[in-house]
Amino acid sequence: QVNRADFLRALDEVHPAFGVSEEELQQVIQNGIIHYDPVVDELLKTGILFVDQVRTSTRTPLVSILLHGPPGSGKTALGASIAQASEYPFIKLISPDNMVGYSESQKVTAITKVFTDSYKSPLSVVVVDNIERLIDWTPMGARFSNAVLQTLLVLFNRRPPKGRRLLIIATSSLRPILTDLGLSETFDSELRVPPISSLRALEYVVQEVELFPSEQQRRRAIRMLEDAGFGGRDDLTPKLQIGIKKLLGIVEMARQEPEAVAERLTSSLMDLR
Ligand code: ATP
Ligand code: MG
Repeated sequence: QVNRADFLRALDEVHPAFGVSEEELQQVIQNGIIHYDPVVDELLKTGILFVDQVRTSTRTPLVSILLHGPPGSGKTALGASIAQASEYPFIKLISPDNMVGYSESQKVTAITKVFTDSYKSPLSVVVVDNIERLIDWTPMGARFSNAVLQTLLVLFNRRPPKGRRLLIIATSSLRPILTDLGLSETFDSELRVPPISSLRALEYVVQEVELFPSEQQRRRAIRMLEDAGFGGRDDLTPKLQIGIKKLLGIVEMARQEPEAVAERLTSSLMDLR
């Protein structure tokens, strides 16, 4: 016998075969979004402005933005968050992580399919994550997959069919190479995602993830970081430059040693200098 609870559970288990890949998006925002600096909100807000523009303006059926910044600064998570917040009926993430082992032509096919599918929905957002890895960029000899690059160039510039609208959110840690590849002119807007560079922002993060059991211990750790020279009051020479992704990794490592959390945190950050 099927009761109401079973029925509701069944509804939860129905994943849209086409359209939104919730799990995929959720996976890249695993650690949530921590508002450690006003810039985080500004980036999200700007992203949402583009979402609204695509939704409401009939003049701009295709808008593409680029989130760029140093490795681990949070580009993928921010891009996925903006996509998720759009609540568009079609939201897809194109990620090199999901194409491991794909041949060049399989990549071209997979990327093209996402865009072709998006054209069937009135409103779509496609996150094209980590362009340099998608095209297999190799700094040595500046090699890359030209087939994938050409596919991206065509798709980034193709207007969706009449009545369809598309927002493209691309990410890259190698902003300078995009110009040489002819990719940068295709973006309507570029948003820089900076690394964490102040002790205040770092303090906010460790508080948010509850690294220290008491305020007293947190204060002690911050003093230790200040003593180690992470004061960072001089904006011209930031003493701290760390992506949120890496910081969260260091935090979890430090957590493993409950007797020496502050020491672990400090020494890991010093190793980066
Ligand atoms: P890579 O250069 O390796 O591609 P990335 O810049 O794309 O890295 P993410 O993969 O987005 O970085 O990693 C950011 C991680 O930090 C995610 O797990 C995310 O949940 C978490 N996070 C916490 N706060 C923020 C924030 N304000 N912005 C972005 N990510 C955040
Ligand atoms: Mg990324």
